[in-house]
Amino acid sequence: MKKILYLILMCGFSFQFLIAQNQGKVSYHGQLSINGSKIVNQYSDTVSFAGPSLFWSNTWWGGDKYYTAEVVDWVAQDWDATIIRAAMGVDESGGYLTSTTNKTANYERITTVIDAAIDNDMYVIVDWHSHHAEDYETEAIAFFTAIAQEYGDNPNIMYEIYNEPLEVPWSTVIKPYAESVIAAIREYDTDNIIVVGTPIWSQKVDDAAANPITDYDNIAYTAHFYAGTHTQWLRDRILAAMNDGIAIIITEWGTVDSDGNGGVATESSNAWVDFMKEHDITNCNWALNDKNEGASALVPGASTAGYWSDSDLTTSGKYVYQVIKNWEGALIPDESGGSQDPENPEDPQEPEEPVVSLDNLNHDENVNVFVNNAQQLIIQLPDNFQNASFVIYSQQGQKLVHEHNVRVQTSQVPLQNYVPGLYIVIIRLHNTIHQYKIIKK
Ligand code: MG
Repeated sequence: MKKILYLILMCGFSFQFLIAQNQGKVSYHGQLSINGSKIVNQYSDTVSFAGPSLFWSNTWWGGDKYYTAEVVDWVAQDWDATIIRAAMGVDESGGYLTSTTNKTANYERITTVIDAAIDNDMYVIVDWHSHHAEDYETEAIAFFTAIAQEYGDNPNIMYEIYNEPLEVPWSTVIKPYAESVIAAIREYDTDNIIVVGTPIWSQKVDDAAANPITDYDNIAYTAHFYAGTHTQWLRDRILAAMNDGIAIIITEWGTVDSDGNGGVATESSNAWVDFMKEHDITNCNWALNDKNEGASALVPGASTAGYWSDSDLTTSGKYVYQVIKNWEGALIPDESGGSQDPENPEDPQEPEEPVVSLDNLNHDENVNVFVNNAQQLIIQLPDNFQNASFVIYSQQGQKLVHEHNVRVQTSQVPLQNYVPGLYIVIIRLHNTIHQYKIIKK
């Protein structure tokens, strides 16, 4: 009897825990855009995202080994990261422009991370990680054209076209470079957010605010900070730029000194995290890497397949894990208790009648699939399941959700915001395929 009670308690616990781990993000927030100084989702709600930045992708620099699908899976599923940044090394040794071999290798690292981010329903920043991007404008145009052609229809992607300019002028160097690269991206992708670096290691956001790019929509500007070095004066500058009407994304921040060393500056980091939360600033922490320096989130030798325990994280890594895990800027209404206006008939939260029906196309009692009253698709896998994945396709064949390597017994997918139509759910379990048809009226 005791044993049964114990089992029931354990099941109840894992059910709660597992559901919280399995929230989709891009499938809810969809196409992002810039509205004044904020990022808004497809429902025009202000949102912000938090996640890690990978280290320079350059071959043999050490950070390259973490450009794996498994690492992206892990930070999505264990850290609850809703964004990740792929920092493609460009012009330094082992970088994209240094040899044909390095070009292919770096490009593959970036697309591995993009593909895994899409699979994990996350946003992903594709970063041209250079301090001299204006010297490689032609190459940047070719690179971003290729990325936009391949991924521009996808809401997951953000383009970061210049990581950290040095002491070069905004108006005569960075802005003209940015406008050329943006024009090339917009040939293939008319809407996804493009982030532009600012002078002095992306600290002079005031220069961009004084002379912003106005020929294109959905442009944001980069600010970087390291809490051990940068304090209130940089927050004041960022806030002034936002008040002037430009959007800021902190594509890189560290808990330590600006050279990547030093200990975690806890008080200063707390002030910065509060600031980013208060002003809805999307951010990525530098860096998801095991280099022996303060800024690294991982201890030397940490696995390149994720599954890190607490002891695999550095002091900074433990701090950052908590920041990302507890970030609330991208909660979907079910999680937050509802952020939509109930008076608004357009509101995606508004109940619709009749709603969703589900047909089982090839029944198997091992898998329990149903739609609950809250319009959530519930997928319950059998005990001791292995090698499970599921995909939801729209009628047009677009992959709306893809969970591969499912590690939770019960998954929950919100369907409230799906437009009326037919959807196909395919669940793969061991070597069997289970198909379901959803009709939303
Ligand atoms: Mg697009």
